[in-house]
Amino acid sequence: MENNITKERMNYLIKILNDASYDYYVLDDPKITDQEYDAYYRELETIEKLHPEWVLDTSPTKKVGGEVIDEFKKVEHTIPMLSLGDVFNEDEIVDFLQRIENSGISSNYVCELKIDGLSVSLKYEKGILVQGATRGNGVVGEDITHNVKTIKSIPLKLKQPLDIEVRGEIYMSKKTLEKINKERISKGEKPLQNPRNAAAGSIRQLDSKVAAKRNLDAFLYHLPNPEDFGIKTHHEALEFMKSLGFKTNPNNRIVKNINEVMAYIHEKGEIRKDLPYDIDGVVIKVDNLKDQQTLGFTARTPRWAIAYKFPAEEVLTKLNDILFTVGRTGKITPNAILDPVQLMGSTISRATLHNEDYVIKKGLMIHDTVSIRKAGDVIPEVVEAKIERRTGKEIPFKMITNCPICDAKLIKKEGEVDYYCPNPNCPARHIESFIHFVSRPAMNIDGLGDRLMEDLYNFKFISTIPDIYRLSSKKDDLTKLEGYGEKSVTNLLNAIEVSKSNSLERLLFGLGIKNVGKEKAKILAKTYKTIDNLSKAKYDELVEIPDIGPIIAKNIVDYFSNEDNLKIIEELKELGLNMEYIGEELKLNEDFLDKSFVLTGTLTKLTRDEAKALIENAGGKTVGSVSKKTYAVIVGDNPGSKYDKAKSLNIPIWTEEEFLEKITS
Ligand code: NAD
Repeated sequence: MENNITKERMNYLIKILNDASYDYYVLDDPKITDQEYDAYYRELETIEKLHPEWVLDTSPTKKVGGEVIDEFKKVEHTIPMLSLGDVFNEDEIVDFLQRIENSGISSNYVCELKIDGLSVSLKYEKGILVQGATRGNGVVGEDITHNVKTIKSIPLKLKQPLDIEVRGEIYMSKKTLEKINKERISKGEKPLQNPRNAAAGSIRQLDSKVAAKRNLDAFLYHLPNPEDFGIKTHHEALEFMKSLGFKTNPNNRIVKNINEVMAYIHEKGEIRKDLPYDIDGVVIKVDNLKDQQTLGFTARTPRWAIAYKFPAEEVLTKLNDILFTVGRTGKITPNAILDPVQLMGSTISRATLHNEDYVIKKGLMIHDTVSIRKAGDVIPEVVEAKIERRTGKEIPFKMITNCPICDAKLIKKEGEVDYYCPNPNCPARHIESFIHFVSRPAMNIDGLGDRLMEDLYNFKFISTIPDIYRLSSKKDDLTKLEGYGEKSVTNLLNAIEVSKSNSLERLLFGLGIKNVGKEKAKILAKTYKTIDNLSKAKYDELVEIPDIGPIIAKNIVDYFSNEDNLKIIEELKELGLNMEYIGEELKLNEDFLDKSFVLTGTLTKLTRDEAKALIENAGGKTVGSVSKKTYAVIVGDNPGSKYDKAKSLNIPIWTEEEFLEKITS
């Protein structure tokens, strides 16, 4: 947020927000994203809170919603149709629930999906639909009865002949929006931006034939006059509406506390993409209607309900540059260098652009505003350039012709999209030796795969083997790399740390001395015990060792007479790597061999890393989450949800003592 608490900034924000509201509510054609709108709105709220004396009547914080346009008959809402307060994280939900508890209320809550549509009020007389109206500005809405009647799930006649008003959300299904947009694009028209604006645009058609074609639907979720029907809770109101023939949402759920609220949010976040309609959050409402009354309303929102908005799945940012990286096979990849932006819990500053064709197809230009989303929830992807935001200062993309590392002329094979650096001595090929160094039979550093190693090399985190052990001082920068979150970086750095205490044979194998494979490395480590001894070994003495022939003996002597190699070993020593043979390295143990284990809670006698190392030494492995394949879960103090999951899957649970007993037996 801008740290600019001035009247000028406030006026500027009011102008942006009011213009945006006009585009959004009246034209149904937003020019900025909801996230941008919400961020400006929050900034304005902060300024107004700090300076209540500045607050203007024209501020959007004073308004409930849209405007009322003249083409429609106006409808006055006897009970105002309000908006909802928005929250964006767990802390704010806790605050909301705390505030309610602090006012002496201990009601249940009802959690509902926040349907991404527009709210509607429906009035029935003697059970017959007589009026449908939009929220408008909350007090006066627009009469949309003619269009509401085209919505098949809204009953024209109720199951009881009641005089009643109900409220809910009109929405357009994902399928319908997709179909309409396909048609619009094929006719050269602009696609509808989102289901909410599409629904709003459809319901505000003067010709109901057009609205009918839009295939709208509706969920009902509010009864403004529950007392008329002797209803005492919100969930009864929902049931009652259902019994009258209205469609209510099957996901509504009564919950008791913050844990259940969070579980609901989590669960619905997961199924969100599979729902046939879009939701943009979850609404939490106090269930007891008396309690709702006690809590009352602010000018624009009820105090008894809150909307939690899901984090954006697609955000806008600036494409600052396109940089090229070289893979271990010489393959060239263009990468989008982005203004760092938060997306689904991680900071994104880079995204792969795969190859030249991909960039050209997307029509990307440097300095474009681009939208970013996470493909498959993990890897950030550049979706498109926002052409309407171009200023004329954008720079066209140009594919490079020479290797960015060694300057060799790039080649492209017939029929392939990728360019390659053909130079076999290109320093980028060093990546191969780093990959070997960290591999399982060598230093066994989990989490340092080929892709990440290529990134670390290209982005200059690693140019020599010792640099791997210097990564711990670059944690912050590492978390900004594409797709590598805080947690995976922490795990990686731990694995690097643990590898420092490997027995000598792993290091010897990892260093890549010609012809010294895993077995030979072990023989050498056993014989010489330390790297210093080995480095001083003479050819004559080496050839005497069974299984070490003259070629290997020569390779070893050559290796240790090379200054560059000695420097690497010296640096590794300084960085704290073990250079000694530890003994029979693997003490394989039947209870652990080839089995997976999960650690949870705080261990008292060992650190996590020590426990992990013990398990690995015994031939097993530790994994991050419990599944049916987990052999046992080792539980320390205050275990987390992994413990519950193990119980539910009937996985054996070991205490720290039991674990130590088994591993030392
Ligand atoms: P809102 O969308 O944040 O939430 C309130 C609305 O949620 C209710 O009015 C109702 O229509 C809906 N809703 C859906 N399911 C519900 C349920 N189960 N129970 C109760 N209500 C439910 O608030 P708003 O006032 O309708 O709209 C404001 C939002 O619109 C802003 O936060 C912003 O994201 C967006 N906006 C965007 C722009 C833009 O330019 N992009 C401009 C103006 C507003």
